Amino acid sequence: MPRAKELRQDARRCDHCSRELPASRPYYRFALAIQGELDVLATGDATADDPHTIIASAHDVSAEDAEAEVHWEKAGVLCGACRRELLGWLGEGWHH
Ligand SMILES: [Zn+2]
Repeated sequence: MPRAKELRQDARRCDHCSRELPASRPYYRFALAIQGELDVLATGDATADDPHTIIASAHDVSAEDAEAEVHWEKAGVLCGACRRELLGWLGEGWHH
């Protein structure tokens, strides 16, 4: 664990562009999770009840990649510019 003095010297940075976030300016905390889901009944295969297996076979990817598709999560802080960029990417319908 860094000492408190070292922590204070370490400026907060945007997790996307690494821009320094001055203490006097607002920054934006975010948490984003993408969860892969599948209605197993729709596959018509009653034995395929593991989403990892299904995703791996559907996309011909490794079990590790399939795991990332089943659950992906990211949290951190953004500067104002990256917040606008993210909201723009998500689209107008996501702003509220
Ligand atoms: Zn940024």
